[in-house]
Amino acid sequence: MTPQPAIGDPRFTLGILGAGQLGRMLALAARRMNIRTVVWTGGLEAPAVELANHVIDKPFDDPDAREEFCATATLATVEFENIPRATLDSVSRCMELFPSPAAIAICQNREREKSFLREHGIPCTWFAIVSSAEELATAMKELNGPGVLKTAAFGYDGKGQVKLEGTEDAAAVWAAFDADRAVLEGFVPFEKELSVMVARGGDGTMVTYDPAENRHRHHILDVSIVPARISDEVAMRAQEIAKSVAAALDYRGILGVEFFLLPSGDLLVNEMAPRPHNSGHHTVNACATSQFEQQLRAVCGLPLGSTRLLSPVVMLNLLGDMWPDETTLPDWTPLFEDNEAFLHLYGKRRAIGRRKMGHVNFLGATPEDCLKRAEILKARLLERANRS
Ligand code: AMP
Repeated sequence: MTPQPAIGDPRFTLGILGAGQLGRMLALAARRMNIRTVVWTGGLEAPAVELANHVIDKPFDDPDAREEFCATATLATVEFENIPRATLDSVSRCMELFPSPAAIAICQNREREKSFLREHGIPCTWFAIVSSAEELATAMKELNGPGVLKTAAFGYDGKGQVKLEGTEDAAAVWAAFDADRAVLEGFVPFEKELSVMVARGGDGTMVTYDPAENRHRHHILDVSIVPARISDEVAMRAQEIAKSVAAALDYRGILGVEFFLLPSGDLLVNEMAPRPHNSGHHTVNACATSQFEQQLRAVCGLPLGSTRLLSPVVMLNLLGDMWPDETTLPDWTPLFEDNEAFLHLYGKRRAIGRRKMGHVNFLGATPEDCLKRAEILKARLLERANRS
């Protein structure tokens, strides 16, 4: 039985495993409702520490940190899936943890994730698990065409991936690939990439947000466009598939489901994120309930909120390459000249490489209008960053 928080009750504290920007925005949503939070950073850089009521800045395998977390939190959730399974299990022995360790473990590893999708008859790309040069050679032969080789564990934003034409020497590819286990997927000639955020409560009630149309830059999400420029039928099907994934995982909380849309109209699930997702950031300005508040509602046992889209919106990610240098902020003048552009910054001190520094939500009359303004701002920020 989930301890239902009396909202604003100082005896209730939500424990958050991880303390990145998703944890920061979750803690911010909690602050608004006066729900206390404790974040366990895992020893990583932690944008959420400024927003949480209590911070445990220690690695996830530290026994003292576990004790402190268990003594402080009433109920736990995650904002990051790459938490060691042992930590998830030990936390769930002292309090309820949503989503469950089993659901998180499936989403944190491509081998388990893809196998889960296949077992449940959820449409996904052709794939084979490989753990040696010989197995890769056999899988490439079976695939007989272009593919993508991905590490089984700890991959995100295109890291740990290599595109294969299918004609390469498997032994050379395997020798250069830095992993013990990998998934070879068929290359999908997709028309669009979409994602659906789905929330599932403790009683199995589910709500979905309108699908987002996602475009990437250097394998990292660049813009999310909502509503996606797709047919109502495809939008409905994507939401139905997202619900079937959440139900099959016996999920509680918010889940991001990423899709490839094929020119035929077919949808394939690419991957799942057991937490709020970058492609759901538009919900903060453009939906009745943000994905972060929805996460709180789902894990705290409160009724789920409306997912109604209040306005067309485009979310633009602000990456480190838009900063003139590691510690100099961009000139925000062009952004604030647009009175329907809303800035979100994560408080990261150094803009190293292409790390995610923040995002902007553009509201407007049509997705095309929002996209045009987002592209103009992006070009101006990149141009100024490259000039300096
Ligand atoms: P992932 O880390 O699996 O989300 O992959 C990052 C990006 O690489 C995706 O958003 C796609 O743009 C691209 N990608 C990944 N897998 C495939 C695939 N099997 N076929 C085509 N493109 C892919």
